[in-house]
Amino acid sequence: MELLTAEVSDFNEKGKHTTTQAIMLPFSFGGYLVDTPGIKTLTLHQDDAPLIPKLFPGFDRLYPHCRFRDCRHLEEEGCAVLRALEEGELDPMRYESYVWIMDNI
Ligand SMILES: [Zn+2]
Repeated sequence: MELLTAEVSDFNEKGKHTTTQAIMLPFSFGGYLVDTPGIKTLTLHQDDAPLIPKLFPGFDRLYPHCRFRDCRHLEEEGCAVLRALEEGELDPMRYESYVWIMDNI
């Protein structure tokens, strides 16, 4: 099985990472995301990538309510994740991490 790793670094105008706070989001299927404001590293099995819209932490209880079964929660109509985001039930930082993952795999 192939491992997929994506990594980006963001620097502020002084060329330094902005904060040191780190968040790790464990995925139930074995991959993990290290999420700091400056560095994000995602490691997961490539075969598991299509599962992310369903298994991303906090999305598991939402996606069954999406209008489309294969909803990616990005700009689909009738998306329960986007609705939860609008209604303040979903942490915008978490959604941002999700969008980043979808952009990088
Ligand atoms: Zn959705």
